[in-house]
Amino acid sequence: MPFQKFELHTLLLKGINTCGFESPTEIQEKALPLALQGQDIIATAQTGTGKTAAFVIPALQQLAKTWTVQRNTGITQTLVLTPTRELANQVTENIRQLGRFMRIRYANIVGGVPYPPQIRLLSQALDIIIATPGRLIDHLNNGRVDLSQIKIFVLDEADRMLDMGFVNDVKTIAQQLPEQRQTLLFSATFEKEVQDIAQQLLTNPVKIELTHAFKKHEAIKQHILQADDYSHKHALLRHILKDRELQQAVVFTSTKRSAEKLADQLNERGFKSAVLHGDMKQTARKRTIDIMKRNHAQVLVATDVAARGLDIKTITHVVNFDLPQVAEDYIHRIGRTGRAGMNGIAFSLVGPSDWAYLYEIEKFTGNKISQTVIEGLEPRLAKPGLPLKRPHSAAQKRQPVKKHKRNMDKPPRPKTGRQAELKKAASQEHSEN
Ligand code: AMP
Repeated sequence: MPFQKFELHTLLLKGINTCGFESPTEIQEKALPLALQGQDIIATAQTGTGKTAAFVIPALQQLAKTWTVQRNTGITQTLVLTPTRELANQVTENIRQLGRFMRIRYANIVGGVPYPPQIRLLSQALDIIIATPGRLIDHLNNGRVDLSQIKIFVLDEADRMLDMGFVNDVKTIAQQLPEQRQTLLFSATFEKEVQDIAQQLLTNPVKIELTHAFKKHEAIKQHILQADDYSHKHALLRHILKDRELQQAVVFTSTKRSAEKLADQLNERGFKSAVLHGDMKQTARKRTIDIMKRNHAQVLVATDVAARGLDIKTITHVVNFDLPQVAEDYIHRIGRTGRAGMNGIAFSLVGPSDWAYLYEIEKFTGNKISQTVIEGLEPRLAKPGLPLKRPHSAAQKRQPVKKHKRNMDKPPRPKTGRQAELKKAASQEHSEN
């Protein structure tokens, strides 16, 4: 087994084997040797690359090293900080699966769920804590968590964390950690804000970049479909959802309201659809994800915030009903399909106001997305037999694309629907404590 070369504990190898991981993914190949030696790492890798196991395996191996005859020490050795509850749940699930033969004790500490079970968990000996910043700070303030013995600190999706305005929370938490520790930072991008926080929290980190593969998403076929208006988009979507190859689909809209409206309309048309957005309580979000995982719904209509980290292997299709206003989100959206070596297909429905966003996406990814038409559903402007013309890029000037650069220490000022939702999701992490 190729994972054997990393000299992992046999019970951990057994867990990896049971998960069906035959060989390390690229990020694991690059990160594991360094992480297992205790090196600080900055990795630009996003979900879908196998990045979670790239930090969970070293964390479990570290625990195995400190075991005394299969009993763990009970000192919390690893802290994983994630921006969203969904991602925290996903990391927890990875730990459960990879560590299933290891009798490890872990706690998932996120907002939006009742306190008492968490307080009970935190009063016991724990090996690993997986948390979102708001709730963890609350427990820290109440003296319920001891982070003084942490050996491995993982900052997952650091760019998202900063985007959601968690920079000061991250710094506050980091102050509670011992100076002598290993820090592993994962981020989809490595922009200025991430570099700044990395400089403050990491010591001589090695940088691992997978950006090329990440931006290309080679396992995912990408198409754009030109749409005249909302009802044309709707007709195109219904056509896509009837694809025989489709197992499950995620459809992205730009606002919560439009996600709910679209899910209702699809249900009325006989497509079993669920909805996921940042306004939903944690329990409702979890229920929706379970519904999808059990295949009780075929379509998930979602906004960006809620769908981050969604890992369902049977999602074969992603449809951008509205294009994302931030180019990078496009990469995250289409990454909901084509997971763990599977193929996927992504359609972007480009209406008159979406072109500027499309150009920005293509600039960001360095790829021109191929345009296609569906027979009988051609856009009005299409001339039979002639290639479709894209509007002149002057459209960009009419509708400036939102950038998400801002001063790190200032709270974000929500302007767009998406930013407002990000902010709300962030504040829920605090307020629903
Ligand atoms: P992640 O990027 O951590 O969200 O992982 C994406 C998916 O890849 C998850 O479903 C993992 O279970 C799966 N995965 C992670 N590592 C491997 C591997 N070495 N072989 C096959 N699948 C993997």
